[in-house]
Amino acid sequence: MNMNIAVIAHDGKKAEMVQFLMDHKVVLSQKKVTLFATGTTGEKAEKAGLIIHKFLSGPKGGDAQIAAKVAEGQMDMVLFFRDPLDKHPHEPDIIMLMRICDVYNIPLATNPATAELLIKAI
Ligand code: PGA
Repeated sequence: MNMNIAVIAHDGKKAEMVQFLMDHKVVLSQKKVTLFATGTTGEKAEKAGLIIHKFLSGPKGGDAQIAAKVAEGQMDMVLFFRDPLDKHPHEPDIIMLMRICDVYNIPLATNPATAELLIKAI
């Protein structure tokens, strides 16, 4: 089964996301996996050597674009490394993305420990 996976990391979590992507590069580079990301997270993933489709940066609407893909049935998993210790101008979009994942029953990891478990399942 083909898998579309979206990755998003807040600024305080981007280093952890890059490490996560490197640790799981073999799984995430499989032919059946297509990766998507918000803009800046995507740039970092590219630098880590992954092929990834980039949406807008999160504060510019990237989370909303990913939520739209979930709503359209085009996203199979969302790995969202949130920074709960920082403020985000796009907090409404973040909440909306999480809500839409729940509406459509799409696996959503909001921290690396959960993402590890989800990655093991693909
Ligand atoms: P970014 O967006 O990858 O463009 O930084 C992430 C976010 O803040 O939601």
